[in-house]
Amino acid sequence: MTSIPVNTPLLNLKSKEYLNQCIDEGWISSEGDFVSKFERSFSNYVDRKFGIAVMNGTAALEIAVRALGLKPGDEVIIPTFCIISCAAAIVRNDLVPILVDCDPLTFNSTADHIEQKISPKTKAIMVVHTYGLPAEMDEIINLANNHGLKIIEDAAEMIGQTYKNKKCGSFGDISIVSFYPNKMVTTGEGGMILTDDPKLSEKCAYYRNLCFVSDRRFYHEELGWNFRMSNLQAALGLAQLEHIDEYIKKKHLIGKIYSDHLHEMRDIFQLPVPTTPYANNIYWVYSLVLKDKSKAIKKIINYLSEHKIGTRPFFWPMHEQPVFRKLGYFNNENYPVSENIARNGFYLPSGLGLTEDEILTVCETLIKYFK
Ligand SMILES: *Cc1c(COP(=O)(O)O)cnc(C)c1O
Repeated sequence: MTSIPVNTPLLNLKSKEYLNQCIDEGWISSEGDFVSKFERSFSNYVDRKFGIAVMNGTAALEIAVRALGLKPGDEVIIPTFCIISCAAAIVRNDLVPILVDCDPLTFNSTADHIEQKISPKTKAIMVVHTYGLPAEMDEIINLANNHGLKIIEDAAEMIGQTYKNKKCGSFGDISIVSFYPNKMVTTGEGGMILTDDPKLSEKCAYYRNLCFVSDRRFYHEELGWNFRMSNLQAALGLAQLEHIDEYIKKKHLIGKIYSDHLHEMRDIFQLPVPTTPYANNIYWVYSLVLKDKSKAIKKIINYLSEHKIGTRPFFWPMHEQPVFRKLGYFNNENYPVSENIARNGFYLPSGLGLTEDEILTVCETLIKYFK
């Protein structure tokens, strides 16, 4: 029995060619040409003026939040159902994360959730598009405009996805993506900050590079980070980006094959929403939420694991993270939708390298468990 990991990346021949070029020419640090080429190609792809490549998506978030220049104690609204990178970027910049719940079907927070948490201290909204469908941007942008709030858009899972035919990653005052191997474009580890604002772009490049200034080397007005992306990473990213249309098609296909074969399970599991008026699901991951509470999710996951099928649980909500409780955040807060999906949700193998046969094996195994 061969194993089917939760993620198998798909790398192409162009990657080898570009990586060889780095090695042949000796350009392996962030100084090589591929970095600026990748920044231009990627920002162009998502219709942004500027792209600032960094070493991972978490670093991108940290710089993006810093670049907005908010004051200590300012509040930023974020979904409780997200990866810790989002909340960490806020806390590490001395800002206060204010949580909101999410929609039970799309897993995204809505303008209604956000509006209830706006206070005089609110300065920004961090929008996190989750698992396959984008957040409803028009309403969130209206809300932000009405209250004078900035938008930080986390499009890590949404490379190639659109909202009303406009690319995800193009909606925030500042947006970010990740190039981790389970994302639609990978550089191994990597990320990018995206913006149309030349000042924000300049600041991000400054924070990424230890706050060096060009006219006086080794003299620093502020503390930054070394979050630079290497030429090797960018070479890989550029090669992947050349195949993005094919990758997006493959993602849609993976989702469709799963949905066709798991249709008969729809009383037991909530399957992903295939389409909404503003987007088709891109199935960054193929998510399942257990509806039938007489079944034990642990047993299902163990059964799949015994059959060498990898799964991942859903995000664990930020208000239930010991690290934030210890810091005094979110005590006695409850977000029922996030709590439910965190406890009853998991996702199936969803990587771009997945074959049709593997998907069928996963579906058959899951169906067999319930027979
Ligand atoms: C993957 C991911 C990140 C973090 O990216 P890394 O490159 O792994 O640091 C941030 N936000 C979301 C929503 C993600 O899915």
